[in-house]
Amino acid sequence: EITLREWQKQKFDEALNALKTKKTLLLNVTTGAGKTLFTLLLGKALHKKILFLTRTHSEFEAVRREAERLGLKITYLFGKNSVCPYATDDIKPEDIECRECVLRDKIKDLSGLKPSQILQLSKDASDFCPYHSLRALITKVDVIVASYMYFFNPFLRRKIVCGSQDCIKPDELLVIVDEAHNLINGDEWFSKKIGKKTVNNALKELDEVESNTNNDLSDVRAFLVELGKFLENIVDEGGCRELPLYPKPSAEVLLQIHKASLSYLNMIKGPIKRSYLRSVYDFFNTEGDTFNCNGKLMVIPSDTIEMIKESFNFADKRVLMSGTLPDLGLEGYRINVEVRLGKAEYYYCSYVNSRVRYRRANAEKYAEIIKKVYDGASSNILVFFPSYDFKSEVKKYLNGLPVLEESKRITHEEILELMKEGKYAVLLVMRAKESEGVEFRDEGNRNLFSDMVLAGLPYPDVSDALIKRRIEKLSKVTKKTEEEVAKELTLITIKQTIGRAFRDPNDFVKVYLCDSRYKEYFSDLGISEKEIKLFG
Ligand code: SF4
Repeated sequence: EITLREWQKQKFDEALNALKTKKTLLLNVTTGAGKTLFTLLLGKALHKKILFLTRTHSEFEAVRREAERLGLKITYLFGKNSVCPYATDDIKPEDIECRECVLRDKIKDLSGLKPSQILQLSKDASDFCPYHSLRALITKVDVIVASYMYFFNPFLRRKIVCGSQDCIKPDELLVIVDEAHNLINGDEWFSKKIGKKTVNNALKELDEVESNTNNDLSDVRAFLVELGKFLENIVDEGGCRELPLYPKPSAEVLLQIHKASLSYLNMIKGPIKRSYLRSVYDFFNTEGDTFNCNGKLMVIPSDTIEMIKESFNFADKRVLMSGTLPDLGLEGYRINVEVRLGKAEYYYCSYVNSRVRYRRANAEKYAEIIKKVYDGASSNILVFFPSYDFKSEVKKYLNGLPVLEESKRITHEEILELMKEGKYAVLLVMRAKESEGVEFRDEGNRNLFSDMVLAGLPYPDVSDALIKRRIEKLSKVTKKTEEEVAKELTLITIKQTIGRAFRDPNDFVKVYLCDSRYKEYFSDLGISEKEIKLFG
């Protein structure tokens, strides 16, 4: 028997009705309060097939646990690039052509296995195809867990949501988007990138095509050489810059590139078909805005928010959920629930500021704050910076302090082990891959830190053209000013960062908000001025 939490009981009928009438539910509920179970129950009550979308594979296991409690059958759609035994690191799902594979029809029953067991089995699968074995289960289960791209990328979606017998039909589908605040960065999912390496490899492929066919490809070669020279000379200015002028192929040359890439792909034996000529073709075949991102060319289609909205037409009903659900201009019925998990003690450092132009001058002051917090802390401390640059700036003044940072040499697991034994200052960057969704807890679900410092305000860096563009687009669809959007994005990052300290009713953490500008966010964070102590 499942015992529901108070909010789950109270809001269930309201949510169910919303899905029946409005078809879209916007569920803004504190992380850790039980959204997964709640939405799976909704799907069950509606007799729908559930497609549960998460950001990464590491979140699959949490969905499995809740589905199991409810007696729902589940399967996982790992990307071909993660479970195909032939795939190498730089392979995309589109590069794998199963028709030529001997394992194509070798299906093994993988039902009932945990995601980690499936990954383990896939590593050296030699008598079955892990991808197609999982794919074969989608019509037989109640819940399918997949990463976002399996729904938002039309090419991948067509393989699971379609009209044919072995597919899920749109009208039987309830799609659940977990951590839906990530949709803000959806523009990057549709982006295409090329760099020097792409062009050099494309030239090598062109050599092979020329020596195997009688085609004159000198125009393609001339273009690739010009593009290569251009890429040699563009500068990595950090982040993304607008790039109005760059070499573009004529329509005819583009067509020749396409044909050459097909010839090259035909020459490859076996199922893995990677072609850099195809990458060049895909890049120039995408219409949109082009940037210089860290010395590479990147193109983003003009209307990615529209592309995401269109995807939702492929499901009868949808739930977008998050602890910090932003306004994306999507219509739907919104439910807000704030559950207080644990207890925070807030401190405000009003005399520092992390605005880019003050950063250098303030770096030393930030280091002093961190040292002081560390000295007074009963356990490890977590320090979150708004950017890598600022982290390294402050680090210069942290000598003498035992610090830990995740890197190629030290993994998250190793950091956790060290935190159990000693007392460290763990340096992190807000929203960075290695800190998003990552927990710092022991086996008993207790925090391995007592204090958390937000060393700066994570205000979006509008000098980065990609971020500026994102804010402009969001401002357009939500009809809010760009400043309001920027403030909302800042608030999401702050809440996500602080939120990880509070997943359990017994959590108690001291939180230091270190930037004079945090004052503007107190009320949105639900903190009254009386509750907050001045630090320093
Ligand atoms: Fe890989 Fe072959 Fe399976 Fe395709 S059919 S995913 S190539 S193992």
